[in-house]
Amino acid sequence: MTITVLWIYILFWSCVVGLCIGSFLNVVIIRAFDKESIIEPASKCPKCNTPLKWYHNIPLFSYMFLKGKCAYCHEKISIQYPIVEFTTMVLYILTFLKFGYSWNTVALMIIVPMFVIISTTDIKEQVIFDAHSYTLLGMALVYNAFNIGNLYDGKIWILNASLVNALIGMVLGVIIMELLARVGYVFAGKRAFGEGDTYIAAGLGALLGYQLLLPALLYSFIIQVVMVIPLYLWKLFKNKDFSTMYSLIFFFIYSIIYESLEMNGVFRNNWIFIPCAVILMCLGIWLCRRLLNAVKTPDKLTYLPFGPAMFAGAIAVIYFLH
Ligand SMILES: [Zn+2]
Repeated sequence: MTITVLWIYILFWSCVVGLCIGSFLNVVIIRAFDKESIIEPASKCPKCNTPLKWYHNIPLFSYMFLKGKCAYCHEKISIQYPIVEFTTMVLYILTFLKFGYSWNTVALMIIVPMFVIISTTDIKEQVIFDAHSYTLLGMALVYNAFNIGNLYDGKIWILNASLVNALIGMVLGVIIMELLARVGYVFAGKRAFGEGDTYIAAGLGALLGYQLLLPALLYSFIIQVVMVIPLYLWKLFKNKDFSTMYSLIFFFIYSIIYESLEMNGVFRNNWIFIPCAVILMCLGIWLCRRLLNAVKTPDKLTYLPFGPAMFAGAIAVIYFLH
């Protein structure tokens, strides 16, 4: 894409509109919890109820000016506001940079805000509202029914985007997530995660089509694991649960050593290493047992909602890997 005055102009407006939409998404999120109408009352401080002036309402900048505090009662303003505004702005910039002057850009600027809304409610209260996930699903089906993904620059973006592929993707998303959720019964006697995640997978399957749903889910699992491990270690460290923490760290070191020995064929063709292998295996089993015991205690588990990771996987597929 050549950089022209028009290009810079549209990029600038992508930022501005992204920030404003982000600001609106904050209202949608807050009112979803409060069950208030989206448009009705003017914005006010949730603590002191003072109506806000227009210059207290500028996305991102007002938060920085006010240093994260209400101008009247100096109550802390939730960090959710600037984060949602900033994230939406970044997604709008990415959309324009990737898809340029196309209907796909317009469509994604309408659909992607649903990613932000659902992720935020999931992080905040571990809730995924049906109204939000159905909206995402509906938008995704319309998107593919009109082949908008195919209209990008005259090239095919989503592989053979069509309503049929979208519907297959939707069903596949439901099947994969429901199977995974039920694995939870084997280990913990309950679902591994809530139904909200299944709705998200259905929506993403309908948006990406079945061909791109699978890589998106794969990336989301990797992202989730990368997020959970440091968080889990941090929680163990904070709770001064050092024995579990050391077990986990030892387990990683042990796995790496065992794997590298195994890959170099050390355990084969050399009887001296047989006792070593037995000792290593026993150590491995002992560490696994210790870890399982630690995980069984529920308050030691770190809960991290899976929804945001799924959207991160979808964003990776839409903007970076295709
Ligand atoms: Zn206030």
